Amino acid sequence: MEQIDRGTRADLHTHTTASDGTCTPTENVRLAREAGLACLAITDHDTVAGIPEAVACGKQWGIEVVPGVELSTLAGGQDIHVLGYFIPYQDAAFQAELAKLRDVRNKRNEMLIARLQELGIQITLEDVYKQKEGPDANIGRPHIAAEMMRRGYVASIEEAFAKYLGKLGAAYVTPPRISPQQAIDLIKQAGGVAVLAHPGLYDDDELVEELIRYGLDGIEVWHPDNAPAAAERYLRWAEEYGLLATGGSDFHGWRGKEPFHAMLGSSTAAHTVVAQLKALAARRRNGETG
Ligand SMILES: [Zn+2]
Ligand SMILES: [Zn+2]
Repeated sequence: MEQIDRGTRADLHTHTTASDGTCTPTENVRLAREAGLACLAITDHDTVAGIPEAVACGKQWGIEVVPGVELSTLAGGQDIHVLGYFIPYQDAAFQAELAKLRDVRNKRNEMLIARLQELGIQITLEDVYKQKEGPDANIGRPHIAAEMMRRGYVASIEEAFAKYLGKLGAAYVTPPRISPQQAIDLIKQAGGVAVLAHPGLYDDDELVEELIRYGLDGIEVWHPDNAPAAAERYLRWAEEYGLLATGGSDFHGWRGKEPFHAMLGSSTAAHTVVAQLKALAARRRNGETG
């Protein structure tokens, strides 16, 4: 069996309790140390809240921590994720941009209610939010359906979805999420490095090539959801287009005793790519490159 020296490896895609992971940033760094990795990136969904803790921990334990983020975007009706590396996580303006992205769910509820009111269904967002179970609990379409039922506009949740809230319903609205191109711009303008996450998951190589031409800096070649043939293809593309080839496990913590998604350290990139990511971000911040 081929021996891989993990001391030269970097897991550039992990989630923490700051988004939908179950491990704290400290625990992720500890797992990286146990796996013998040289480097770990924290890439939570639309937030940088977990980074300061991980950076402090990494310093203490001798693990390089790369500040990252994973932005949720929409293209062709599909969720497309764009990773940002060496982003300015302490910058208030950048944090405010991320807060706007996280606010999408609330915005969608507002749009749905406005549309329902146009259709003569007099329910209010205020009444719907009365169902909220805690400060961090999500409110969405099922809660709107319940309120419609309570007011007698529909006989069941199913009816609310079929007639109004489902994809074919009269009040359906697409959440106003940004495009992958906007995410690439957001990351690059902030001085970070933009990398397309798990391209093998989209089954849409035309889009992948379009985003490469648009201005991606890198592509996630090694990821649990990229089949070996796909990883080979994307590695070839990285060479052809002059992109950085990154990799990561997409670790989300634990579901019971099993790692959720994949174990931290199970997909990695060479540690040398981290220096390249960092150098590109530095050049960008100095205005030497677009
Ligand atoms: Zn993702
Ligand atoms: Zn992820």
